[in-house]
Amino acid sequence: MIDAPTIAAVMTDLGEPPYRARQVYEALTRGLAVDFDGMTMLPAALRRALAERLRPLSLEAVETRAAPRGAARKTLFTTADGHPVEAVLMVYAKRATVCVSTQVGCAVGCAFCASGRLGLRRDLTAEEMVEQVFHFARLLRGDERRVTNVVFMGMGEPFHNYDETLRACRLLNDECGFNLAARSISVSTVGVVPGIDRFAEEPLQLNLAVSLHAATDELRDRLVPLNRAYPLDDVFAACARYVRRAHRKVLFEYVVLRGVNDTDEQAQMLAARVRPPHYHLNLIAYNDTGGEFARPRADQLAALRARLEAAGVSCTVRRSPGAEIEAACGQLALRRDEADPQP
Ligand code: SAH
Ligand code: SF4
Repeated sequence: MIDAPTIAAVMTDLGEPPYRARQVYEALTRGLAVDFDGMTMLPAALRRALAERLRPLSLEAVETRAAPRGAARKTLFTTADGHPVEAVLMVYAKRATVCVSTQVGCAVGCAFCASGRLGLRRDLTAEEMVEQVFHFARLLRGDERRVTNVVFMGMGEPFHNYDETLRACRLLNDECGFNLAARSISVSTVGVVPGIDRFAEEPLQLNLAVSLHAATDELRDRLVPLNRAYPLDDVFAACARYVRRAHRKVLFEYVVLRGVNDTDEQAQMLAARVRPPHYHLNLIAYNDTGGEFARPRADQLAALRARLEAAGVSCTVRRSPGAEIEAACGQLALRRDEADPQP
C-alpha cells in the first residue's frame, strides 16, 4: 500500500502530470495491484522509474493457513525489517471480515492474551495495516467476493498507536481508493481513556469496541494490567462521553474465562454497568493460549448469556470460525517466534 501524497511526490519529482498519480493510486487501491508491471496505461519507462522508487507491497506474505471448512484464513507476514505480523480473514454468509494487527506484540500484557506475552516490538505503519486488508481482498477476488468489514482486533493496542491506526482507517475509507464505509470499520481498545476521548472527536463514523473482561476493578487489575492506570469508572465515564459526543454505540468485549469472570458476582456487576440502548456486550469464548485459564463450554456460555439478558443486558456470543487454526481475534500468537530459543 502506498498513500496518495507519497505517489504524488514521486510523480512531481519525475515531472509527471497529477493525473498520473491518480491513475497509480487507483491501480493500487482499487485494482489491488502488487507491482507496476501490469499498469499498462503508463509508459514503460515510467513503470520502471516507479518500481525503482516505490514498493507497492508493505508486507511480505510468508504463509497462509485455512481452517477446515474454509471459514477462516490466517496469514503470517514479515515486515521489511524482519518482524512477524499476523492477520485473519473470517468468512461468513454475507460478510468477509479482516482482523488487522496494529503493533508487533503489545505492551499491555493481558493475562490471557498471546500478543501481550511478546511484549511490544514495534508499532506498525498505516501502510502495513492496510496491506493486511489488501492481501485478503486479493485472495477474495478469486472467489468474486470482497472485504466487507475490518476490525482492528489483531495483535497490539490500537490506541497505543493512535495516529497510524486512524490513518489506516482513513486510507481504507478513502472514496478515491479502497472506499470501505467507515461504519464497516471497528477499532478495539483495552480501555485507553485518552484514546477513547480522541476517538470521540473523529469526524469518521467508525465503530468503537472496548475490551472489558471483568466488572470489578479487583478482578480487572489482575486480567488487564492497564486497569490500574484506567480503572472501570474512568473507562465507563469515557464511554459515556463518547456516546454523547459521537452519537454512536459502544460494543464491549468480554473474553469468558471459566470459573474466573463468569461468576454470579461478575455477571451482576456487569449487568449494572453495560446498559442498553447504547451499550452492547459480546461474549467471546477464551481460546487456549497455553496459560492458566480454561475455555467455557458452550452450555456455560449460553447460561451466562441468558443470565445477563434476564438482567437486561443486550448480549451476543461471538462466533469464532478461526479457532481451529489459532486465528481467532486476540489469539495471534506468533508461535514460530515464541518457539525461537531466547539467547
Ligand atoms: N488490544 C486491543 C485489540 C486487540 S485484542 C484490545 O485488547 O481490545 C482483540 C480482542 O481479542 C480483545 O477483546 C482481546 O481481549 C481478545 N483476546 C485476547 N486473547 C484472547 C484469547 N486467548 N481468547 C479469546 N479472545 C482473546
Ligand atoms: Fe494487548 Fe489487547 Fe492482548 Fe491486552 S488483549 S495484551 S491490550 S492485544
